[in-house]
Amino acid sequence: MSLAERGYTGRFAPSPSGPLHFGSLVAALGSYLEARCKDGRWLLRIEDVDSPRTVPGAADAILSTLDRHGFEWDGEVVWQSRRTEAYAAALEQLRAAGHAFPCACTRREMADSALARDGSRRYPGTCRDGLPPGRSARAWRIRAEGIIRFDDAIQGPQQEDLARDVGDYVVLRADGLFAYQLAVVVDDAAAGITHVVRGADLLHSTARQIYLQKLLGATIPAYAHLPVATNAAAEKLSKQTLARAIDAHPPAAALTAALTFLGQHPPTDLASAPLSEVWSWARTHWQREHVPRLHHAIAPEFT
Ligand code: GLU
Repeated sequence: MSLAERGYTGRFAPSPSGPLHFGSLVAALGSYLEARCKDGRWLLRIEDVDSPRTVPGAADAILSTLDRHGFEWDGEVVWQSRRTEAYAAALEQLRAAGHAFPCACTRREMADSALARDGSRRYPGTCRDGLPPGRSARAWRIRAEGIIRFDDAIQGPQQEDLARDVGDYVVLRADGLFAYQLAVVVDDAAAGITHVVRGADLLHSTARQIYLQKLLGATIPAYAHLPVATNAAAEKLSKQTLARAIDAHPPAAALTAALTFLGQHPPTDLASAPLSEVWSWARTHWQREHVPRLHHAIAPEFT
């Protein structure tokens, strides 16, 4: 089925590594307004596949913060920690078709290899054609080849040469956990996601995800990457940069600030208006074309 035939299905997919901060509110709001303004569905997925990074209680706190701000999601919340079987089936499909291979290399063994576009070490190809004698598999990687092009609705045309810019990437990690890149592709496909709206920190992951969609025969969604909120030192707001929880602010003020951040022009008194008025203004006036074509921008003072 083509994207147009499916009807718009969007999603917000926070990782429960801490409370919702201004940066994640921006991603929630942008994806929500795009979906609702296109009469679409908006699904919620808790991305707790990376269990060592999951903070107990964070997922419930995120859900209650979204609720407090007036977000309404469709259907049941999906939890990645409950979807291991689906990820294993996808890996089996990739393995059987020869797209995934076992890898014995340790991080130390790759320390001298060339850098990929994101600054990580590019896989030197050691185990591509079979494990070296006497070594056993630690992880599974995708044989990454070819050029991936896509047209991002906000950031414009993108292109990545998988072998040069990324290298063979991990889908099953050495600690036994499935990698985010695989989980997100399997989950978006299972949920019938037609449009992915998220932060531009994931722009560079998109080619890897499109490649997996192609290998798995999944429908490729449309992508739109929003500017990521940073502090004054240009660091992404996160737990590591001590971003404040958005709950420290009245919801109407936080949502109004997020609308402004996304290039919309809400009246200043909207920040103290009842929540229903904020949503009604946002749904009437939302224009994706006004979202700045930036990878990041400084969050407003009040955050
Ligand atoms: N879980 C990711 C994050 O919180 C988002 C993944 C996605 O939207 O594809 O940054």
